[in-house]
Amino acid sequence: MDAAGFATYAREQIRAADVILARHREMVGVCSCGRLLPCSAAASVARRRRHFVDRLAQVEAPTVLGTARVGGPIDGEIVPTSRGQPYRYGR
Ligand SMILES: [Zn+2]
Repeated sequence: MDAAGFATYAREQIRAADVILARHREMVGVCSCGRLLPCSAAASVARRRRHFVDRLAQVEAPTVLGTARVGGPIDGEIVPTSRGQPYRYGR
């Protein structure tokens, strides 16, 4: 399966997981499927959904990286520092 094929497959899996998760709503003390909370069925579907979200992000990452610019920040750009404080690059 190529990347585009996998991306389509992963999106279908995520959509299917959303449909299943819609049937598992937390109510007072129990899940809407009747299981006690935390619902093991909902947890396994949520785990599977997260797996495909992560894999989809990996597959689609090259596209994002491909559009990333080369070089450092430009003058006047706000960039995060190692301490998490933004500062204005340049003078
Ligand atoms: Zn449930």
